[in-house]
Amino acid sequence: MKKIAAHWQIIIALVTSVIVATLLKQMGDTPEVALILKICNLAGDLFMQALKMIIVPLVVSSIIAGLAGMAGFEGFKRMGLKTLGFYLLTTLSAVVLGLIIVNAMEPGLVDGKPNAELRQVFDNSAESISAADKGRFEEGQQDKASDWTTIFKRMLPSNIIKAGAEGQLLGLLVFSLIFGIAMTRFPLDQMAPLRNFFQGLNDVMIKITQWIMVCAPIGIFGMMVNTVYKNGASVFQELGPYFVTVLIALALHLFVVLPLILKVVGKINPLDHFRAMKTALLTAFSTASSSATLPVTMRCVQDNAGVSKTTASFTLPLGATVNMDGTALYECIAVIFVAQVMDFQMDLAAQMIVVISALLTSIGVAGVPSASMVAILIIMNNSNIPGANNAIYALFVVDRLLDMSRTAVNVFGDSCAAVVIAKSEGEQLYVKENEAF
Ligand code: ASP
Repeated sequence: MKKIAAHWQIIIALVTSVIVATLLKQMGDTPEVALILKICNLAGDLFMQALKMIIVPLVVSSIIAGLAGMAGFEGFKRMGLKTLGFYLLTTLSAVVLGLIIVNAMEPGLVDGKPNAELRQVFDNSAESISAADKGRFEEGQQDKASDWTTIFKRMLPSNIIKAGAEGQLLGLLVFSLIFGIAMTRFPLDQMAPLRNFFQGLNDVMIKITQWIMVCAPIGIFGMMVNTVYKNGASVFQELGPYFVTVLIALALHLFVVLPLILKVVGKINPLDHFRAMKTALLTAFSTASSSATLPVTMRCVQDNAGVSKTTASFTLPLGATVNMDGTALYECIAVIFVAQVMDFQMDLAAQMIVVISALLTSIGVAGVPSASMVAILIIMNNSNIPGANNAIYALFVVDRLLDMSRTAVNVFGDSCAAVVIAKSEGEQLYVKENEAF
């Protein structure tokens, strides 16, 4: 029997999870429903944890093995500059796009006036939010960047083991880069054992990624049943225009801006690239975590798009940590939207500060679900938007679908950097016949 392709398995899991969650909702609050949800939750959590489990060894080994294979410091410097330039360009275009769309669509206004009903939702949201959600939000707030200088401090962790244990990817990344560069400063044969060790470790992590992805449909099904069950359709009504604005802006960035960059800068056929990335896109959408998706992104970019290990291991872990187009765009829309509802006037200069803040904070946002909510709160407080502390709760409760969508954009943005830079380094792309997933 022919095996169903991985991306189809995930699509089937997504569709059936919506059907099952809707049926469960209709069955009411019975013990059976609670048990089914619990089992689904377990399957989803195990899948997420399995992906997260391999991130630290995968990132460390792939960067070090990749750098050790690089032709000295010059090659590293060239690739570093190209990557950072690409990330800056795409994130900036995402924020500006968000700014244009939110000003054009004005989702916080009704007939040109601030939406009074929404304002009430914001005013009440701190009380109406469940204790569990509140706890989740406040817990998240504690360990996230409290201002932009934290981002720079995190780059050099004082304790590398602690950074790994806490999943601080940025610190791990910088350490691995320094370690890999230092290795290139020794004669090749002296470093051979270390290089072979990290190469071997990386190969093993790739094998484990493949095993985890065999379970992806079950994990994604479990995770999505809970998501759909919890976030029923009702929330979409009040915040409908806001949802539509965010989704339109994300779609424009994903389907117009990034493909244009692929075509013009990289001379790459965007359709080839979408085809190569489909499983990573679906995984990002389902998990709402670009960090958890990283192992899958790396496989798709190398095995399906044909990017070399060196380029992929340099661009992708860095991208998963610092390059978040969807998040930056979303932050900008969310902040301006709340200002519109609260009738808080923002002139061009004030909006430019939001643009710069979104750009900077998106670098520090962790690649985990709802991580950008804290960044949004910081920007709103910096801009003195009234009612920010209440509004953020309302946005948080309805965040999941938007989070899933912006995470897919984040991951796609990283993968575009990988292929454009690979092409500029003269690599042969999209000729591989052995697709990973
Ligand atoms: N969930 C996003 C990611 O992992 C981050 C965010 O925007 O909250 O890429």
